Amino acid sequence: MKKFDELGLRNELVKAVTDLGFEKPTPIQNKVIPHLLKEERDIIALAQTGTGKTAAYGLPLIQNINLRSKKVQVLIVSPTRELCVQIAKDLNSYSKYLLALNVTPVYGGSSIDKQIQSIKKGSQIISATPGRLNDLINRKAIDISTVKTVVLDEADEMLNMGFKEELNSILNKIPEERQTLLFSATMPDHLIHIAKKYMRKPLHITVGKKNTGAENVEHHVYFVHSRDRYIALKRIMDYYPDIYGIVFCRTRRETQEIADKLLNDGYNAEALHGDLSQFQRDIVMNKFRNMHLKVLVATDVAARGLDVNNLSHIINYNLPEDLEVYTHRSGRTGRAGKSGISIIIANLKEKGKLKQLEKNIQKKFVKMKVPTGKEICKKQIFNLVDKVENVKVNYEDVEEFLPEIYGKLDWMDREELIKRFVSVEFNRFLEYYKNMPDLLDPEEVKNRFTGANNPSSFTRFFLNISKREDLKPVRLIGLINDLTGIRNIPVGEIDIQKNFTFFEAGSEFAGLLQKAFNNAGYKKRRLVLEVAEKQNGAKRSGRKTAKVNRKNFRNGKKKKSFAK
Ligand code: AMP
Repeated sequence: MKKFDELGLRNELVKAVTDLGFEKPTPIQNKVIPHLLKEERDIIALAQTGTGKTAAYGLPLIQNINLRSKKVQVLIVSPTRELCVQIAKDLNSYSKYLLALNVTPVYGGSSIDKQIQSIKKGSQIISATPGRLNDLINRKAIDISTVKTVVLDEADEMLNMGFKEELNSILNKIPEERQTLLFSATMPDHLIHIAKKYMRKPLHITVGKKNTGAENVEHHVYFVHSRDRYIALKRIMDYYPDIYGIVFCRTRRETQEIADKLLNDGYNAEALHGDLSQFQRDIVMNKFRNMHLKVLVATDVAARGLDVNNLSHIINYNLPEDLEVYTHRSGRTGRAGKSGISIIIANLKEKGKLKQLEKNIQKKFVKMKVPTGKEICKKQIFNLVDKVENVKVNYEDVEEFLPEIYGKLDWMDREELIKRFVSVEFNRFLEYYKNMPDLLDPEEVKNRFTGANNPSSFTRFFLNISKREDLKPVRLIGLINDLTGIRNIPVGEIDIQKNFTFFEAGSEFAGLLQKAFNNAGYKKRRLVLEVAEKQNGAKRSGRKTAKVNRKNFRNGKKKKSFAK
């Protein structure tokens, strides 16, 4: 692989990137830089975020700028304010030895007049968000007649965010003889359409495979019942004590809910979504960038502007509606040569989507089991022990306190001391997980209880509440969970009738269920739970049973299965 000075870049640029610690060009830089230095052909480059694409187009474009002219020569369009500012910042640091170059970021939500003033002072490169750029062009604040190159950075994201009209409008106005460079992680149909309309014989450059995820990202999937998503999330976070990552949710509401719950449960997590003001978002993002915040719970849109390279985990609390978005989410980890894990919490119904995702990213998901309380406690404890082993001891600073500390702890032997220091951190987990039932793998449960080879593993119950008490299947499952204190009792058919209910549940829980229900009340009724016979078997004992079963056969068609 070539070095920066072998790519044809001028010394000032090579020196600047060396100052930044770039030792050798990334694959996309290797492909794009030499090409842009010698040709003005359009380029479509398919590359993930984090591959070094800003420098790939930034360095040669800076080199090609006519520094004697103060006219606008390059327009870079990107989806978010944060990215637009980041690009301007990056280009400024690449050009720090070329003092005559000015890069101006322009974006919405900030004074347009000030931005117009700085453009007027003479800016050869403008880094812009689509809406604001369109606005400035319409106001004739930017002289587009001198623009030679337009870069569309994260083009697929711009379309995802609904900037199609703005992009069309911008590309329609810039002189046709311009050069257009399109950088995108994915190439959905509507982007192909734009490329066909506005680009001339583009050169296609792909780094890695088309639409695939970053090379050094592992993809893990945890199957749980939907109702257990949050518990699974907490367990996964507890299992990775050094997690630094983003939990992606689908909606702003869900994002806020999950962040609030995590905060309440003592996690270092906060929400990032569009209902927050720009000011609030900046605060959260800065905290996260500085690693004062370990977990960000975010919507896709809000997280877009976040440029953080060392994330250990991405957690998909829910899969995105548009599966292409998964590539962007998972591409946020495993950047700049580091490895990362992208986690999906899914229910069994989402298996089809996962298959599709595996095809998209051309990688297999590793199926994981939600860690048990014991596994989590072990992981936490060894994490603490590792930290103790590896901590840098500042002998000089602690020295003066040691005699007093030795004196205080003198009465303990080595074993006692170790036990206690471990308990300091560990008690929280131990307490929490002591009485917590582990999450069963729904697939295993399904096979165990509904598999053809094991049809007798369910017991059928009669319960004396029904539609009259407005009982619904979800409420019944809630009752089972609440009264037994166990969340994973397998539930089979539920048949809620006018005066009573039948349901199936895992036979091994029969005794427990009866004990739990028969002491409880529901809407002023004392509950009665009895074992009923199998639907097509012999009658239950007693008068009531016979009647019940006749009704049951009459209404047999209405059954609802929750065994999935
Ligand atoms: P980008 O894909 O442009 O967002 O870049 C991702 C990250 O990689 C940024 O933090 C860059 O500073 C860094 N980077 C870009 N090029 C190189 C390189 N050749 N060597 C090391 N780091 C780089």
